[in-house]
Amino acid sequence: MTIWNMWHGCHKISAGCANCYVYRRDESIGKDASVVCKTRTFDLPIKKNRSGEYKLTASDGIVFACMTSDFFLEDADDWRQECWDMIRLRSDLHFHIITKRIDRFEKCAPHDWGGGWDNVTICSTCENQDRTDYRLPIFLSLPIKHREVICEPMLEQIDMEKYLASGLIEHVTCGGESGDKARQCDFRWVKELRRQCVRSAVPFTFKQTGALFVKDARLYRIPRELQMSQAKKSGYSYTPGMNSGSAIKYALPQREELFARLKGSKFRSGFHLSQKDKQYAAQKGIATIRTHALDFISKRLCAENPENDGKQTPLKGHPVFIAQHATACCCRACLEKWHNIPSGKILTSEEQAYIADVLIDWIQREMNTT
Ligand code: SF4
Ligand SMILES: [Zn+2]
Repeated sequence: MTIWNMWHGCHKISAGCANCYVYRRDESIGKDASVVCKTRTFDLPIKKNRSGEYKLTASDGIVFACMTSDFFLEDADDWRQECWDMIRLRSDLHFHIITKRIDRFEKCAPHDWGGGWDNVTICSTCENQDRTDYRLPIFLSLPIKHREVICEPMLEQIDMEKYLASGLIEHVTCGGESGDKARQCDFRWVKELRRQCVRSAVPFTFKQTGALFVKDARLYRIPRELQMSQAKKSGYSYTPGMNSGSAIKYALPQREELFARLKGSKFRSGFHLSQKDKQYAAQKGIATIRTHALDFISKRLCAENPENDGKQTPLKGHPVFIAQHATACCCRACLEKWHNIPSGKILTSEEQAYIADVLIDWIQREMNTT
């Protein structure tokens, strides 16, 4: 990858900018980051070496444009056209443009943009729900060939399910904030966003933990040099069809601790077997009910991305269905939330057996009550 900074300096416009690293770095050397100037590398894509060949070649990888400013900044309105000209000329290179100003895109696009250019990926940043709901509808309405979303710094749980379902977003990246004043990032938000991506089969990258990372309600301080490697080690990035969740290490809950938590949920603890269900289970015998359970699990829950996830388990018709709702084994989202079993992967036979055990345990406890 290559970085092409054509101008430097920016203005803070939203919550994600509060601890902007451009400002942090400039302050540390006594520079004012709000002054926007062209850089000496302004024409990097068309710079040539002595033999008259372009210095940048396709083998240099993706060109990340404007990393110490925002490409759609007002201050750069007079300079941008020249950059578009270079991008157009270098159709052999692929440019990534990350922006918090997608609402200025239409004003700033080149005259011949048409339905978008193949060699440009636009990445819209969404740090919280408010900015997600403002920027993504605009982003999706624009003629752009390649769209990505970056939730960094991720400041809260974000629901972008409906935007992902459009099929127009090619990739989602998320990560926590670094630096001395970093705000916390909660692993639950990361997992939830990943699950949304899984549901729409959108590749997902968990890029960095940030400096203050919350996992299982405990706050961890992560040194700068480990923030990316720790995120990678978690295995929570996702590539559709790659069964990528197999890299995730997690612990299944202890049975009694699980049942205690389920009891604490008004929704879960409201499920009970009817007399008819109990009779059915008694008549079939627990071994047969377990076979039924395994069959439902393999048909409805097992796939990397089951159809109708969240709605696939009926509310009646079989004691196993009731047990699934009572024990939060009804869908992959609940399996992840309550049992830690990651979504975005095919269930292993051990995981299937574990789920069947939980269901049977619950059914037997119900049968023992009158
Ligand atoms: S838009 Fe980006 S570069 Fe500009 S202030 Fe915000 S975080 Fe910094
Ligand atoms: Zn569920």
